[in-house]
Amino acid sequence: MSTPPSPLSSWARGIAPSPTLAVDAKAKALIAAGEDVCGFGAGEPDFDTPDFIKEACIAALKAGKTKYAPTPGIIELRTAIAERYGADYGLKVAPTQVVVSPGGKFSCYLAVLATCSPGEEAIVPAPFWVSYPEMVKLAGALPRIVLADDSTGFKITPAQLEAAITPKTRLLILNSPSNPTGAVYTRPELEAIVAVVLKHNLYLLSDEIYEYLIYDGLKHHSPATFSKEAEARTIVVSGFSKPYSMTGWRLGTLVAPAPIAKACAEIQSQISSNATTFAQYGALAALREKEKSREALARMMTAFDRRRRFLHAELNRIPGVSCLLAQGAFYLFPKVASFGVSSEDFCARLLEKEKVAAVPGSAFGAEGFLRLSYATSDEIIAKGVARLARFCGTL
Ligand SMILES: *Cc1c(COP(=O)(O)O)cnc(C)c1O
Repeated sequence: MSTPPSPLSSWARGIAPSPTLAVDAKAKALIAAGEDVCGFGAGEPDFDTPDFIKEACIAALKAGKTKYAPTPGIIELRTAIAERYGADYGLKVAPTQVVVSPGGKFSCYLAVLATCSPGEEAIVPAPFWVSYPEMVKLAGALPRIVLADDSTGFKITPAQLEAAITPKTRLLILNSPSNPTGAVYTRPELEAIVAVVLKHNLYLLSDEIYEYLIYDGLKHHSPATFSKEAEARTIVVSGFSKPYSMTGWRLGTLVAPAPIAKACAEIQSQISSNATTFAQYGALAALREKEKSREALARMMTAFDRRRRFLHAELNRIPGVSCLLAQGAFYLFPKVASFGVSSEDFCARLLEKEKVAAVPGSAFGAEGFLRLSYATSDEIIAKGVARLARFCGTL
């Protein structure tokens, strides 16, 4: 291919490719080349989708569910999603407030497009999920990064939020439990944040994709449940990728006040149409077969919890490394600033010398840290953290 005759668009030139997917791709390429790689890069559960979900999808395929569906999703699934918000949080949701999209990532982008105009601002707390700032930029808006480090458990304070608000601010993007830190906001912390959101008439994009992946008996709180006012300002994003190990299915959800949900569905109708029709029947089984889903989730969480504790303890044994015990998701976010190398350099050399794949904190707007995913086997975690310790000893 030769150079295109005219330059690519500012969107195309301005976008940063996903660094987490890049690390994962590099690790997989090394593995394919026969290298013994310990991959801590994965952003997905290492469990397979439960069989009963696959079977529901196969049955739908065989029954001819291979055509276009309504843009916001098949009505059975939208109804089941609305009902589960009632059962989980006591939220009264109508099916018309639900949009099923091709992935939680896409749901987030829909929410940004529905609330932010070009030139407006969205507040993105860091460490952030890599896609938020890029999505805001793709909407022509400006991401305003507010950094929360380990001294506040990677959670922003209401004062920090207040200080970042300008007359152009439209949206706050919050992600609890968090990717990359695993931090979980408490209910009082969330209430204080929501009070600032309401005071300034902002929208809140609450990305709750890890809502079920939570430890130590903690409870997830959805800000939409706090008050009628909060509900009217909150767009709740979740999906099937993380709780049901369905990353490849590409199914996300969005629940919002009816006018916002309608706007999101209309945007989706022009960019992607409905999420894959037969896949939605698999998701429907995941919601309907509650007992089977609970069992599969409990199995996964038992493994994640064991690995979380082990990895946390081992990391804190390494001189120069300190790591908070995350309470959600499947990541730890150790601090490696004491070694005096950039996190990007640290990760590049770690992969080269010890064949350990980790994502640099800089990718999440937090220099001096690493993201380690423990959604991988106990054996790989044990081997990988030993190699990491050896590597740190050489710095
Ligand atoms: C994985 C993830 C999502 C959604 O992923 P999809 O596979 O697109 O459903 C959304 N937000 C965060 C923070 C995630 O880690």
